[in-house]
Amino acid sequence: MITDRTKYDVVVMGGGLSGLTVALQILQRRPQTSVLVVERQAHPVPEAAHKVGESTVEMAGHYYGEVLGLRDHLESAELRKMGLRYYPAVQTPPPPLSRRAEIGPGDFLPLKTYQLDRGRFENELGERVTAAGAEFRHGCRVQSFDLDRSGHTVTVSRDDERSTVDARWVIDASGRRALIKRKLGLEESVGHDCNAVWLRLSEMIWMDRLIEEEEDPPPDDTVLAEWRARVPNGQRWRATNHLMGRGYWAWLIPLASGSISVGLVADPRCVPFEEVNSLDKLLGWLEANEPELARAIAKRRDSLQDFRMLKHYAHSCKQVFSADRWALTGEAGVFTDPLYSPGSDFIGISNSWTTELVTRDLDGMRIDELAPLADTLYLGSFKSLLGTWEDQYPLMGNPQVWAGKVCWDVFGYYLAFGVLFCTGRLIDGAFMESVAEHVARFTALNQRMQAFFREWDDADRGTDSPFFVDPAGPLFRELHETLLEPIDDERLRTRLSENVLFAEDLARVLMAGAARQLGDAVEPADIDPLVFRLGQRPDGDGDRGYDREEVIDRISDAVAGIWRPSRERSAAMSA
Ligand SMILES: Cc1cc2nc3c(=O)[nH]c(=O)nc-3n(C[C@H](O)[C@H](O)[C@H](O)COP(=O)(O)OP(=O)(O)OC[C@H]3O[C@@H](n4cnc5c(N)ncnc54)[C@H](O)[C@@H]3O)c2cc1C
Repeated sequence: MITDRTKYDVVVMGGGLSGLTVALQILQRRPQTSVLVVERQAHPVPEAAHKVGESTVEMAGHYYGEVLGLRDHLESAELRKMGLRYYPAVQTPPPPLSRRAEIGPGDFLPLKTYQLDRGRFENELGERVTAAGAEFRHGCRVQSFDLDRSGHTVTVSRDDERSTVDARWVIDASGRRALIKRKLGLEESVGHDCNAVWLRLSEMIWMDRLIEEEEDPPPDDTVLAEWRARVPNGQRWRATNHLMGRGYWAWLIPLASGSISVGLVADPRCVPFEEVNSLDKLLGWLEANEPELARAIAKRRDSLQDFRMLKHYAHSCKQVFSADRWALTGEAGVFTDPLYSPGSDFIGISNSWTTELVTRDLDGMRIDELAPLADTLYLGSFKSLLGTWEDQYPLMGNPQVWAGKVCWDVFGYYLAFGVLFCTGRLIDGAFMESVAEHVARFTALNQRMQAFFREWDDADRGTDSPFFVDPAGPLFRELHETLLEPIDDERLRTRLSENVLFAEDLARVLMAGAARQLGDAVEPADIDPLVFRLGQRPDGDGDRGYDREEVIDRISDAVAGIWRPSRERSAAMSA
């Protein structure tokens, strides 16, 4: 027998990141649950060159650290991360890295995030899930399965052996194999069309040293001092560093096992896949577009651990949760885009909904209303968030617009999704229904702003300038800290309504700033963000008694770097 039993409460098909974590979450909530996890790859899996999906952001840091209790492993065996850093550029080839715009935190933020060595992390998860009481069968395949509300069956194979087991719940965590999605014909395409190639090198690239080692000619002492002063603790290398131009970004992600993960993600309208789909082609393309990175990789070529690629990675699904006791989690369901590292955030959400449904059902509660609500909320967020990436890749070649978009996207993440998830309310159906109006206002505003960034880029293609925006400044930090505060329902509802007002003010500041750069003297307080268009007079009421001037001033300070690069700094760095 491959399995110890013939009947389980839950069978998880696929024991990668989402499968192992959903099993752990269910067992932590309801330890007596019988869980079988079936994983094709034998454990231990290799470190470093295992899977892509190494960078986490706040929601995932909270999910893995607090919800699943993995903080000890994250602190001792993975790398604490120093945020997301962007270096957008207009020109090709771009200015030397030290003289490009930089948007990235000057220091660590309180809610910890990590760079995950996926092999190391999944090996640890395999051990934890077994210790929690799951039967983890690795080196085994899900051969076939049948879904039937009165009892599902799953056939597991290893070499010539077969076992068929009964399951009350089947969770599909098979990643892009998407076992249930394919069987039930739930595939749904999305308009967002980008591709990725990536590799791992066992010899680290130290981001803080890249400009000294690879810029040609090397930067002088003034430029070097300026570059170092932006991140005084010398921890830039711990970030997910993004080198960007029109239609693409290249990532550098350090791993605790000592390797570096490097990838290129691109809109094929700007970077045809055929130009980068082999190591030699990628290096040739980088030489022309990101020369410092190209040289750093070429020097370490002997330490290459893998080279992989994926076309058209975004995908959707018609349904992910069913009252008929099946669920899809992780990439077996939906995937948006790797920019901003939302993959693990979505795993946290889909796993949490799955755990809610499974444990309620096993405890004899009804889920026939909750399952469709969970499905609507989860897929609704996925669809509304897609606009964050769809058609936005060209903006990566416009430093000012990109900086504005990053500020908008980061603040929006803290103000809406982040606070709802970290306070546990995103998977509280009744609470979510009670704040539907705030969510709808955020959604409408986000759609408008994503379109506005394209309009701004059309009106002004931007300039290369070594400005610096620090998303760890006081206002960013203040909002970040609200993610950690315990808060009751009533207070959270009030906070969400205040957050909508804050988001509207942020939109006003960004719109007025863009208009002023184009020569129109526009006051933020006069702008109605849902209707304002560049080149037009704002049709706000011009009420000078506007009572949020102070908020607008604070937001204006926080994003000031976008518009006002210091003359002295520019002079020093353009040498
Ligand atoms: C280019 C790119 C970059 C990304 N970067 C990030 C990032 O920085 N941060 C982030 O959070 N996310 C990122 N992601 C997303 C991230 O990769 C996914 O969210 C994550 O890997 C999904 O985990 P999963 O467990 O759903 O799927 P997987 O990790 O693929 O696991 C699925 C498992 O199912 C197993 N399996 C499949 N079929 C069977 C079968 N028949 N029987 C048994 N087992 C089976 C497989 O062996 C595998 O282990 C990125 C994605 C892409 C495409």
